[in-house]
Amino acid sequence: MHPESDAKFKYCPLLKTRDDKLKFCLGSGCMFWRWENPAKTGADERGYCGAAGPAIAAALLRGADDDQKPIEDY
Ligand code: SF4
Repeated sequence: MHPESDAKFKYCPLLKTRDDKLKFCLGSGCMFWRWENPAKTGADERGYCGAAGPAIAAALLRGADDDQKPIEDY
């Protein structure tokens, strides 16, 4: 678990640029972000990636197929 301000400097395994480089975590800007205490939110409050289990496993399996495009910039 990290403060959101720190998480935004950790690489997200699901987001890549068009040239296949990892992007930083979006923190609460991502639908997968979960707060440790939902009553307390903010850059200094702790949270975690809710996708850290199943979605990461799916991304690793997806990585076996090199023909698929990365999740693109938005
Ligand atoms: S919360 Fe998880 S899926 Fe969302 S940007 Fe951060 S690391 Fe990536």
